[in-house]
Amino acid sequence: MQSGAVERVLVDVDGTLCWNLPRVCEYLDTEYGVNIEPDAISEWSYRFEGIDAEIGEVIERMLTQRPAWFLSDLDPVPGARAALDAIGADNEVWITTHRPPETHDLTRAWLADNGFSYDRFVEDVPGNKARIPGDVLVDDYHGNVRNAVDAGMLGVLFDRPYTEPVPGDRSVRVSTWADALEALGVGSLSAGPAPANRGETQNRSRR
Ligand SMILES: [Mg+2]
Repeated sequence: MQSGAVERVLVDVDGTLCWNLPRVCEYLDTEYGVNIEPDAISEWSYRFEGIDAEIGEVIERMLTQRPAWFLSDLDPVPGARAALDAIGADNEVWITTHRPPETHDLTRAWLADNGFSYDRFVEDVPGNKARIPGDVLVDDYHGNVRNAVDAGMLGVLFDRPYTEPVPGDRSVRVSTWADALEALGVGSLSAGPAPANRGETQNRSRR
């Protein structure tokens, strides 16, 4: 990002800030006896033949039946918290998740418990995230990133087993948050000396 220009970075949650698939696999095992590893879920709309359901339906059941168990204790993606601090030092960070609004309190609690800072939690995220005024979208779903790129935003796509390439000059595919920071032109906190304002960033409340 250009130095001096404050930009708004929209950041997804599942598969971007936290790992939700291990819990999905645990649920599939205990509820249906389906044994599958997270990395084997190789398509966005992966279908579990044994139970005749797509992953989206399974997640919907989990969100309805056991939302607190599903969302309260997920592992953060490595580097995500420090990355939001680094991005937020000079830019706005808006959390944009397609989780149902009735689970947003659980998501906000998880973000707080794991030390995440951000400027705004968007309550009603439209199907097309590019309808939210932003400059960048960081997400693990190619459909969302494609919409963002089509709308002229920079799209940073996390490479997961289920992500498909998004063509275009404004689309960047990354594997780690360090890669994402590089794509955004934000200095990594883990590489080289910490920025002068690091302490101030960590101490201020941006919720
Ligand atoms: Mg996601």
